[in-house]
Formats: sequence, C-alpha cells, structure tokens
Amino acid sequence: MSTIKQDLQLFNQIVERLLKDDLDNPVAARIPVEELKQKLDISLVDEPLAVEDFKKSLEELVLATPKTATNRFFNQLFGGKQSKAIIGDLLAVILNNSMYTYKVAGPQVAIEKEIITTVNKMIDYGPSSGGTFPTGGSMSNYMAMIMARDAADETTRNRGVNQQLIAYSSIESHYSNAKNASFSGIGRDNVRYIAADPQTGEMLPGKLKEQIELDIASGLKPFYVNATAGTTVLGAYDPINAIAAICEVHNLWLHVDGAFGGGAFFSEKYKHLLEGVNRADSFSFNAHKMLGTPMTCSVILVKDKRHLYHSFSNDAEYLYQTDSDDYNLGKSSFQCGRRNDALKFWTLWKAVGTKGLSNIVDHQFYLADIARQYIRKHPDYTLYSNDDSIAICFNYKNIDANELCTSLYEKGDLMVGFGQFKEDEFVRLITINANNSKEDILNFFTVLEAHVEKYF
Ligand SMILES: *Cc1c(COP(=O)(O)O)cnc(C)c1O
Repeated sequence: MSTIKQDLQLFNQIVERLLKDDLDNPVAARIPVEELKQKLDISLVDEPLAVEDFKKSLEELVLATPKTATNRFFNQLFGGKQSKAIIGDLLAVILNNSMYTYKVAGPQVAIEKEIITTVNKMIDYGPSSGGTFPTGGSMSNYMAMIMARDAADETTRNRGVNQQLIAYSSIESHYSNAKNASFSGIGRDNVRYIAADPQTGEMLPGKLKEQIELDIASGLKPFYVNATAGTTVLGAYDPINAIAAICEVHNLWLHVDGAFGGGAFFSEKYKHLLEGVNRADSFSFNAHKMLGTPMTCSVILVKDKRHLYHSFSNDAEYLYQTDSDDYNLGKSSFQCGRRNDALKFWTLWKAVGTKGLSNIVDHQFYLADIARQYIRKHPDYTLYSNDDSIAICFNYKNIDANELCTSLYEKGDLMVGFGQFKEDEFVRLITINANNSKEDILNFFTVLEAHVEKYF
C-alpha cells in the first residue's frame, strides 16, 4: 500500500478516537504550560520515529488539544463541526492548488467566483461588483482601508500618504482597525473611535457626523468609515443606513465589518440587521464564524471591483482586463500563493443549499433566545445583552466573571469567555455552534450552577 493510503488510514483512526473523545470528554483537561513537554512528546529529534510511536504521539497530542467543536465550548466566535464543509477543506489540502491563476487552480477559480457572485447578488451589489477571500476578518478590514486610502487619492500607491487621512470606527469595533491604520501609513492616532449607544452598543451616527465635521473644519481629510455588523463583545449591529447617508454626503468609503455577524444576511429572518449594506463600498464576513466552516474562510465583497485591482494588482491594468484576467485571481488578492478557502464554503453551501445556510444562522439566534429566556427567568442572573445577538452577556450571583470563567476552564467543566462593555464585566456565552440543541444550552446553565455550588 502506498504511504499516503496508510497515512490516511492512520488519519481516520485518529479522527475516530477524537470524535469519541469529544463525547466522553467534551472539555480537554488543561495542561499547565510548564508541564507540556513532560506530558506530551513534542520535542523534535534526529532519529525517525517508529510508526506505532508516531501514532501514539499524534493521538496524545490531538486528544490533549482544546476542543472547540463540542457542546461545552462557548468561548469564541466559532464552534462546532459542519461536516460538509470539512470534506471541502480536506479536499483542498489534498488538491493543494494555489488560487492565483486559472492555470494552477482551474475550476477552483470558478468555485470562488461563484460564491462571490452569488453573495453579491444576495446583498444587492450590482454587476460591477467583485471580491476575494482574504486570510481573515482582520485582513478584510485591512484591504478595505487600503482601497479607501487609494480611492481618496490615487497617487498614494506610488508616492505614499501625503496628507492627514482620518478613519472612523465604533469604540466597540475590532482592534484590527488600529493595527491596520499603522500598517497602511494612516497612523493609529488618526483613527477616531465613535461612541456607542450605552444600551445597545451600536455606533451613534450623530456622533460620527459631528466628528467628521469637526475634522473637516480642522483641515483634515476624512476618508474611511468602518461599521460593524456584530460587534465582538455584544454582537451589536451598527445602523448601516444612517452611517451610509453620512458617508455619501462626505464621499467617504464605507466598509461593513461583518466578520462576526455578517453571515446573518443568509437568513430571511435576520438579514434586516444588515439593511443598507448595499450602500457600503465593501462588506466582509467570516464564514468560519456564523456559517460554521473550518478556519479560516473570510470573504470581502467590493461594490466596484476596479478598486480591488487598483490597490492589489501590481500592474494595475484593470482597465484592459481580458476574460482570463478575470480568472487570474492573483490580480485582486494581497498574497501571491493563496490557499483554497473557498472550497469548504462551497461544499457546505452546495450540500445544504441557501436554505440550509439560513437554517444554520436561524438556529444560532434561536439558541441565543433560549439562553436569554433562561437568564430572564432566573433572578440570580443579570443580563447585559440585547435581543438579536448571539453573544449572551450575563453575570451569575454577582460572581466576578473572570474568576468564574477561569475556574470553569481549570476544572474542565466549560469553555466560556468573559467580556467588557463600559464598566461592566460579564460572562459571554456565544451560541454560534449550530450543532447544539436547546438541551445543550440549558445544560450549560446546569453545569455552571453546579460548578458555583461546588467551588464558590
Ligand atoms: C473576528 C472578528 C474580526 C477578525 O477576524 P479574524 O478572521 O479573526 O482576523 C474582525 N472584526 C470582527 C467584528 C470580528 O468579530
């Protein structure tokens, strides 16, 4: 038998062990950092390993790794396993194409383009629209900022930034905005953080307008607004229509960062949360968050694809594109070699249909409603989050959220994180794993309460 066949058998054996272990031990025992090298065979050595030893090392490593797909993981903005997407990602590894040219990626290019075209239709972007699959949501925000910078002054590409450009985002927006401002030559000090509604966490458009007018009056040049569809802590959706109206008056690039909550546009019931997204110049979402594909699967859509070519192709011959240029995706991406992140999203979408994606999103909101109902019914809890969010923020018996989450983790009961909004710190339960049921959510509270009973 060929080595690859044997290795794939080994792979299957290890995966079977893992899937069984996911059920028996949904939270992997935490290993203190200083004990890692004693507990696991991590060191690299000169001599080859016997097959059995290799297998044993791998199995131990896999079983000791934090489990992000089980019904006890609520820690981050991803979770669960969508097996139809996993097939796609495994095939992408086996095929090992690079997405820069049609010659090397062939029909995989059409896979990526099909997703981009279909999403663009769904969000009501016109025929000039385009997009690409960046390495993640941070990179999507970066690409948007670069396109905005170059659109504000087309000489920047060659001469560098030569005026004080000002970017705007909500105080609740993702931290990549600050980093991106530094990378792009805008400068961290030139990002204005706009206040959010103290109740909902949504950016206040009135404050945005005020700040823009103030900056213009000071002789500065506003160029870019980053609105968030699903803020990282509260899951709040900024009011896109109101923000777009301001951007249109001042001719500013509007990007909607939907890394977390942008996937809601797949749902008939919740797409209203993104109303106005068609007025934005660009929009991004992470399919590895709300849609449950493996990491990473990030998409940026651009209303006028010439901006993508202008900022990211090296020769900028975007005006003279031939059909084949349109299939040479390297002309609109940041990297040169690029992983095939589209296939896993396509296999999932193909298998479950747009209706299936809608169900995945709806189920997350349903689970969030279950959690909020539970919290509202039980007086020992304080709720901080709003409806229409899959981030349920709460405190239990006024216990310090940091202490509680750390204890739940160290005792191997639950993986859940904590967050902060204004003066409040709270537990932050993310119901993004669409494999979970109502019972899993209720069980979360049962486990948490039993834990508090025992340790606090
Ligand atoms: C997760 C997230 C990002 C960053 O995405 P990465 O893929 O982790 O780089 C950006 N913005 C928001 C709102 C997010 O939730």
